[in-house]
Amino acid sequence: MRYIEIHVGFDDVDSPSGGCTTHYASLLLAKWVKRGLELIDYPNLTRLNPGVPWKTRGNGSVVIRARVESEDRAKDLFEEALSFIYEYLGAYSEDWKKYSQPAVAMYVGEVEDRIKWFGSKALYDIVPISLLELLLDKVRGRLYYSIPGSGKRGLIGAIAGIGNRMLRGDYTYELVAYRSPDYIGSERKVSKESIIAMDKLYGRDTILNYDYETDRPLIMPHGPDPVLLGIRGEEPDILLKAFSKLDIYEPVPLAVVYRTNQHTDQHLKPINNLKEAYPYRSIKIYAQVSTKPRRILGGHVLFKITDGSDEIDVAAYQPTGGFRDIVEMLEPGDLVEVMGVIRPPSSRHGRTLNLEKIHVVMAKPKIVLENPKCPKCGARMKSMGRNKGFKCPKCGFKSKSATKIKRVVKRSLEPGWYEPPPRAFKHLMKPIKRFGREKEGFPKIYRPGTVVLVEGRSLSIRS
Ligand code: ATP
Repeated sequence: MRYIEIHVGFDDVDSPSGGCTTHYASLLLAKWVKRGLELIDYPNLTRLNPGVPWKTRGNGSVVIRARVESEDRAKDLFEEALSFIYEYLGAYSEDWKKYSQPAVAMYVGEVEDRIKWFGSKALYDIVPISLLELLLDKVRGRLYYSIPGSGKRGLIGAIAGIGNRMLRGDYTYELVAYRSPDYIGSERKVSKESIIAMDKLYGRDTILNYDYETDRPLIMPHGPDPVLLGIRGEEPDILLKAFSKLDIYEPVPLAVVYRTNQHTDQHLKPINNLKEAYPYRSIKIYAQVSTKPRRILGGHVLFKITDGSDEIDVAAYQPTGGFRDIVEMLEPGDLVEVMGVIRPPSSRHGRTLNLEKIHVVMAKPKIVLENPKCPKCGARMKSMGRNKGFKCPKCGFKSKSATKIKRVVKRSLEPGWYEPPPRAFKHLMKPIKRFGREKEGFPKIYRPGTVVLVEGRSLSIRS
């Protein structure tokens, strides 16, 4: 039988008052998997440029990739996804028309290069609606889309998600467990001790479970969204085992395993010139520290970097805790690789890089000038005034020709990588512990095993 690939992407299916794009997509996915839809990948959760100012939370978009027997079947699925957006938003997010621009898009066939290019640009840049319009013009025929609200913005995320196939390079997984509607808004009932126990068992292969400095679990969001918890890690089977270790005292109607670009640093665009550090871009660059870091009111630490032709501010904010102490040890002349989102200039500061991680490439040796030692008795000599030589305070020896001595002081800052504490991590930031564990790729067609758990039991896809 001939099959057609379909890639169905969603974004902005939420509003500040409720709902969540991943929750909507997981409910739809559960329906489709129950009916035997043949997935060709785990559902993808793509985090896009964290610098986008109009994101609700983590700038995530979700894509379901599958294969179907005919284009008619694909169109039916698309229509179902669309009508379910109205149903979902009606139930979870009454004021969505005011705040959101939800979108669903479906690409039929192997994702073409234009869409892939668009997807990778949305990881680090601001994509204007005009660029979206140009793309829509070029891919007519193979791309179906609909915007239930008043604007097209959600289409940027939906199509960018489709374009980020994650077939080459690194990725991770996240198991997201959702709450029963009548529990949304109440305190999450998951035992803290069981999260710590899970972290002790599976911490090597999972990411950001617990912040021991502040004694706080990191797997649970706050506030009234439908997500109960998310466990992130290297492989799906570890996540399923870790999830089964948790003591949860509320219903978990649904859980889904996503393949994702979280914790891969995929958003950091390498640039060589600070002129390319445009506002809202996510970048990384090698540069020289040009001013001594200073701690300002509020506890933020600021310094400047230069590439020789331009200079910008870099900020390590108060919530990054002890990371600021490392940053404060920098000295002008140090060579660093810095990365993060560029904040636009304001009347009070220039363009500022919000520091996510730092690589100290070279800590410039510190040289201090000292008075010479007395050649007769070894005591430290004293200056007799500018250009008048030195005199020994102990034995009285005088020398007109003696000069100050240069001494290299060992720096307490060692070259290497430094990162903020787990609680200050954002979705895309790669922890140092993942260095060297990056994955190299994923098969183009893959039938995943357990993807959806209903009431804790797998809706198994493999027969
Ligand atoms: P949730 O986590 O609940 O899905 P969110 O933080 O992902 O919320 P959205 O509500 O999806 O935020 O809003 C982000 C909006 O920004 C979407 O409309 C998306 O299409 C758009 N967007 C995403 N990336 C870019 C980009 N690089 N340039 C311009 N717009 C973007």
